[in-house]
Amino acid sequence: MVTRFAPSPTGFLHLGGARTALFNWLFAKANGGKFLLRIEDTDRVRSTQPAIDAIIDGMRWLGLDWDGDVVMQFAGAERHAQVAHEMVATGHAYRCYMTNDEIAAMRAEAQAAKKPLRIRSPWRDRPESEAPNLPHVVRLRAPQEGAVTIEDRVQGAVTVKNEEIDDLVLLRSDGTPTYMLAVVVDDHDMGVTHVIRGDDHLNNAFRQLPIYRAMGWPEPIYAHIPLIHGPDGAKLSKRHGAVGIEAYRDEMGILPEAFDNYLLRLGWGHGDDEIISREQAVEWFDLSGVGKSPSRFDLKKLENL
Ligand code: GLU
Repeated sequence: MVTRFAPSPTGFLHLGGARTALFNWLFAKANGGKFLLRIEDTDRVRSTQPAIDAIIDGMRWLGLDWDGDVVMQFAGAERHAQVAHEMVATGHAYRCYMTNDEIAAMRAEAQAAKKPLRIRSPWRDRPESEAPNLPHVVRLRAPQEGAVTIEDRVQGAVTVKNEEIDDLVLLRSDGTPTYMLAVVVDDHDMGVTHVIRGDDHLNNAFRQLPIYRAMGWPEPIYAHIPLIHGPDGAKLSKRHGAVGIEAYRDEMGILPEAFDNYLLRLGWGHGDDEIISREQAVEWFDLSGVGKSPSRFDLKKLENL
């Protein structure tokens, strides 16, 4: 079994990310598997070195060691592009020459019909011989009929109709890969068997599966963890207290063992146990113990640790 933590280095390591990392680490250890760390730095504008350093420092502080070297996603850009070209060659993707004006018209049409924008480009079926000599993107030829069901280890069975999946962009017009393509290629190449992440990515799973299928790759098992909410039930944000883990480490002086224990119990439980050691957590951790509803962050509990 192979899990991974795949943060985008656009800010500090936040509570939700730290908990995702911990669950992935525990799941790997509980099953004698491997835990990998991949920094998703494909967004060249928003990714920063201080954020990369903060993530790595935070992981070390939490005691979440990873197997092998840290994988930097952008370093694999050529491999990602190669997969997109392979998908074009096998008909699972196509070059799309739509102009921004054409896309804007499609958007206006969808808005007028009060429907979400789902791009099906005319270039899906148009012969390349008609293609203008202009920049183009590479799009997934998303299946149009039927539906896909994911047996998510936390959410249960979730079904989405294929007509709801758009022909998403795999390669931008400058030839760089999108997140959607890069994540699938990397998870496959790194041998990731279990994708455990926040449920804000559940919709993406339905966009990523067609890429696995087009390439004939084994599909991972998914577990989408409910996000952390504040005591008022709203998505966790700065007004509930610091969201970056540094504040707890540097300003409140919380010990990593106590912080790990708090994160573990945020969305996972073992009876009424309040203090669970790392060894016990490795022995007991199981995805079936992850709750389906968002967990509530309570700063007071953390302050009392
Ligand atoms: N890089 C993504 C993020 O930080 C996570 C991707 C994933 O886990 O699949 O939200």
